[in-house]
Amino acid sequence: MQPRPHKPVTMYVCGVTPYDSGHMGHAFTFSIFDVLARFLESGGMPVKYAQNITDVDDPLFERARRDGIDWRELADRETKVHIRDMTVLGWRPPDVMPRVSDEIPRILAAASRLKASRHAYKTDALYFDTSSYRGYGRLSHRTRRSMIRKLREEELLGKVGPDAKRDALDFPLWRRSSPDEPSWPSKFGEGKPGWHIECSVMAMRYLGPQIDIHGGGRDLLFSHHESERAQSEALTGKAPFARAWVHTGMVRYNGRKMSKSLGNLIKVSQALQRAPAAAVRLYLVSHRYARDWDFEWEGLARAARLVERMRKFLADDARTRRRPVAPGRGLMAEFNAALADDLDTPRAVRALRAALRQRDAPAVRAMKDILIGSASLT
Ligand SMILES: [Zn+2]
Repeated sequence: MQPRPHKPVTMYVCGVTPYDSGHMGHAFTFSIFDVLARFLESGGMPVKYAQNITDVDDPLFERARRDGIDWRELADRETKVHIRDMTVLGWRPPDVMPRVSDEIPRILAAASRLKASRHAYKTDALYFDTSSYRGYGRLSHRTRRSMIRKLREEELLGKVGPDAKRDALDFPLWRRSSPDEPSWPSKFGEGKPGWHIECSVMAMRYLGPQIDIHGGGRDLLFSHHESERAQSEALTGKAPFARAWVHTGMVRYNGRKMSKSLGNLIKVSQALQRAPAAAVRLYLVSHRYARDWDFEWEGLARAARLVERMRKFLADDARTRRRPVAPGRGLMAEFNAALADDLDTPRAVRALRAALRQRDAPAVRAMKDILIGSASLT
């Protein structure tokens, strides 16, 4: 990325839907973007980082209904769990964490503008007209058939017809709420926003019409990010909406993607019962960001041994050292080259091991600050 003088690098990362406390998949994504923010800032590029809380979302309402609690209460409780987990894992908190429920007037304003510019039409809901945007599908490199297949798999396909959407790929910007869901008044009828428009509006409000880095888990690439890009560029007339899209891989457990529906989630709190926060964090970031990988307890144990060596070494060093020394140039150059090479964090972790072997305390500290942040070594 080329720095632009006097302007921070703007980074928007799709955050959690707060209905089930954070698992390793979430922690992986947010730890990776934390390394990215810290690495850019260590190189003199300030970062403005926004991460949203999707507190208006169907799965959240479903969970609230199932558990018989108010959706706001559930969202508040689980947002706190997310922030607590990531604080323990040592993140540099995002500069803004907007909640969808606070952004409804701006979401409606954006929906109205899309309607006025004929990118949206109203039938039983207000839909974005994907045929009005050239290149829908290009971000995720999908054909029309594969997009439709994915929508069907995720139960997002919906109906096509005179009283519904005109085309299978169109998606709602504003729709009716079920009786026990929240709804807001609007000129399109009482209702709630569609998922994609939420992120477009928050990204643009806090970071501007064009952003540098847009991130999230790879499961968001289609349809969420594809749709976000289309409606954002339709809204502003400016392309690209995001200069770089960065997607993190999926974390598996016992060979399958961790997911609520399979019941194989490893929660951050479970991992923290077995290892210090720094070890959990180091284990996460010792995987290449774009790849899928398998969570293994033995891998976490290995990271814990490395963290323990580092803790002892730094404690000894603090006791015996008389005056500060600069980190070894070669070690830091290798570490920075690794992260500059498409954020190769496994290689950066190897550089950290080398710094430990060479007993270079300043280099160990500098690398630790970026890879592990403020996570505790004990
Ligand atoms: Zn999003």
